Amino acid sequence: MTGTIETLEPLRRHLLPIAHLNSAASVLSWDQETYMPPGGGEARAEHLATLQGLAHERLTSPETEELLGRWLDLKTGEPLSGATDGWNPIARALLRETWRDYTKAKQVPNDFVRRLGKTCSLAQQAWAEAKKQDDFASFLPHLTAIVVLKKEEVGYRGPVPTPYDALLDTYEPGATTAQLLPLFAALKRRLIPLLDRIVHSPVKPREALLTRRYDRDRQLAFGRMVLEAMGYDFSRGRLDISAHPFTTSFHPSDVRVTTRVSEQDFTGSLFSCIHEGGHGLYDQGLPATHYGTPLGESVSLGLHESQSRLWENCVGLSRPFWQHFYPLLQHTFSDQLRAVAFDDFYAALNSVKPSFIRVDADELTYNLHIMLRFEIERDLLEDRVRVEELPQLWRDKMKSYLGIVPPTDREGVLQDVHWSLGAIGYFPTYTLGNLYSVQFFNQARRDIPDLPDRIARGDLLSLKAWLNERIHKWGRLYTADELVRRVTGEPLTPDHFLTYLGNKYGELYKL
Ligand code: ZN
Repeated sequence: MTGTIETLEPLRRHLLPIAHLNSAASVLSWDQETYMPPGGGEARAEHLATLQGLAHERLTSPETEELLGRWLDLKTGEPLSGATDGWNPIARALLRETWRDYTKAKQVPNDFVRRLGKTCSLAQQAWAEAKKQDDFASFLPHLTAIVVLKKEEVGYRGPVPTPYDALLDTYEPGATTAQLLPLFAALKRRLIPLLDRIVHSPVKPREALLTRRYDRDRQLAFGRMVLEAMGYDFSRGRLDISAHPFTTSFHPSDVRVTTRVSEQDFTGSLFSCIHEGGHGLYDQGLPATHYGTPLGESVSLGLHESQSRLWENCVGLSRPFWQHFYPLLQHTFSDQLRAVAFDDFYAALNSVKPSFIRVDADELTYNLHIMLRFEIERDLLEDRVRVEELPQLWRDKMKSYLGIVPPTDREGVLQDVHWSLGAIGYFPTYTLGNLYSVQFFNQARRDIPDLPDRIARGDLLSLKAWLNERIHKWGRLYTADELVRRVTGEPLTPDHFLTYLGNKYGELYKL
């Protein structure tokens, strides 16, 4: 019988050890961020480099080429005449996505991968020190070297309309600058005036009530309880502490999340739990039967971020969510919150204010932070700006988008780790995630008409089941564009997101 997944069994068997190597590397990375003693860093970097090198070697090996060549023209990636006639969509997608991974890995020469890896490893350490000392000059040579290497990478990636597309595609397959520009323009057009009206509104939420002293263990217990309510399965997951919260998956049966805890502010820990929990539900919901093939993976970083932002913002910052959870929070932190009225708490949680740090930004100003980075990255790749000009360019753009100027580079151009990791072209996936999240959530509300009531009763499992069914279980069977059309009946649009923000903050700030 042709056209079933069994036809591709030799390919699947060949790919499986690559997944095992990657999962082992992920365990080591998770450990590095959670429990590894500080002295282990150097040796750990070598362990990881070896595992990643072996995985890359096997993916780009002649065996992979031979297997793909049975069905595909190795020059174009198109199916050989008649070779895949009558195949089912799963088998076709498996071949299409394996081809994509293979060509992506094959495009860049091995010595380039090593040079980039070494440069980034040094750059990351230099960045951490530069940020601590607020010393951009010491990071400058490292960032300059990375920008040179990323331009070299653009050259390997084959012909693209703009250099940015070559890098963006690594994180968000199929996305292009031409598609992003109108999205960002629409956001800019609506968000900047909306922010201006909010800043000048007489309504001033009392944020200070969130920054009292909140016991660490109680915060963690509360975060854990919310994760359980979301349907995050602790028999296939863990919650640990790390400096920067993240989610990692070794297999759908072992998906781990982390959070950070500050005694002064419970929102950092709780919203990290909810955000990473959204990522975790996606990874736990991926099809285990396709583990080791692209079909067992998520669609893109933007799609992954849509899951975390949907839970964090559309659910975690909503009235229905707190109708159920606020009394529980008040019970947990009785001294701090007993006397705080629901509306004051809700307004404080959703207060909008221009701020310097992206990761602390509210859901309205967040995308302005991304836009600024997107513009700077394009300017760098297209030689419109030199690396040494970035601190000033950053301040200028902050002034024009958010009306504030960071007093230090630590709170400006040095704040994010991404560039030191060589991750140029990554930031737009955060904004795509925000737009997808509201578009998906609106569809969930149409499909489950009493969804707000369910959430207000503490039932988060209906939404989780909807996400499992509509998004998670498909892995990479569909592209991001196909998936969003299938789920919501239309392509990605900023309209849902903008309407959501307009309504929510119009009401909160009485605009
Ligand atoms: Zn995230």
